[in-house]
Amino acid sequence: MKALQYRTIGARPEVVEIDEPEPGPGQLLLKVTAAGACHSDEYVMSLPAEAYDYGFPLTLGHEGAGVVAAVGQGVEHVAVGDAVAVYGPWGCGRCHNCAQGKENYCTNAAAEGIRSPGLGAPGAMAEYLLVDSERHVVPLDGLDPVKHVSLTDAGLTPYHAIKQSLPKLGAGTTALVLGTGGLGHVGIQILKAISGARVIAVDVNDEKLELATEVGADETVLSNDRATGRIRDLTGGLGADAVFDFVGVQPTMEIAAASAALEADVTIVGIGGGSIPFAFGSLPFDAALRTPYWGSRSELIEVLDLARRGQITVEIEQFSLDDAPRAYEKLHAGSLRGRAVVVP
Ligand code: NAD
Ligand code: ZN
Ligand code: ZN
Repeated sequence: MKALQYRTIGARPEVVEIDEPEPGPGQLLLKVTAAGACHSDEYVMSLPAEAYDYGFPLTLGHEGAGVVAAVGQGVEHVAVGDAVAVYGPWGCGRCHNCAQGKENYCTNAAAEGIRSPGLGAPGAMAEYLLVDSERHVVPLDGLDPVKHVSLTDAGLTPYHAIKQSLPKLGAGTTALVLGTGGLGHVGIQILKAISGARVIAVDVNDEKLELATEVGADETVLSNDRATGRIRDLTGGLGADAVFDFVGVQPTMEIAAASAALEADVTIVGIGGGSIPFAFGSLPFDAALRTPYWGSRSELIEVLDLARRGQITVEIEQFSLDDAPRAYEKLHAGSLRGRAVVVP
């Protein structure tokens, strides 16, 4: 079968021919119907050899959807022909966090060598994907896999981040979204759907901000050295009650810190290498700084429900598997609108 693999440090990913996997006991084989490209793949491929621990060759793709093609012995609740989305943050299934569906915070995964698809285990940018447990799929229940596969990360990650700040986002509040790309443009819609907050969106050019407005942002601000002043003006000097940084580079983290209100949540989702000081007085009183990772299985079910009710959509650019390297070139160049989705 064909697969998109990252094969050497610093190289661009390439389409190669590999053996089709077979499901062992408890496992599922999916015929992949769609796979999304995330900026975290770019992060993984930017790591120097001493920091890279995802193995070679790495089949990319941690956003996946497919139709069950075969099941291993002992699989009980998923059958051949089922259309599913993959819950990507795989855990042990037994620890306290996994027992709550929070496999993104599994306390055994590292010690047991459990890796997520596309982030250590073979990913979804291939004709077939092996899923290690029926626990790690959720029924699509009528959702189009191509239009919705990215909800497994670009939807789930902002949903998890936002849900924890909901007590601070009642009527009359302001949420600030930094970066309106794959995660950010879904994050804006989630904020509008489940909170009472007005949303201010920040990105680097008018084209990106146009998408932000299309998906529901109330105000847009260009990301430059005047951004913080604009955000203060828009909030009557008070700042934002919750800040979601979907970029995480030095300039956005500085805007994030400088735009926070008293008691705000400042949530850094982007892995852009930036940092801000966290000491008494470096943020307004009682502001909290958070760095969430992905989301829980129950939150994925909730995100798919939002999509089924038409409350959130994903803006996608579609690519064939042969053309998948070009999706990553566009992601790298910052020229994608929304999310790149590969259809094998
Ligand atoms: P993306 O490339 O689709 O979007 C990034 C957006 O940020 C783009 O619209 C870009 O124009 C904008 N941007 C870049 N520099 C900016 C700046 N200085 N100011 C304002 N906007 C700027 O990326 P994505 O797939 O949405 O991922 C976003 C980040 O989140 C990445 O760092 C990714 O690795 C990370 N991520 C984290 C998690 C997690 O669990 N914490 C999960 C998924 C992705
Ligand atoms: Zn991701
Ligand atoms: Zn666990």
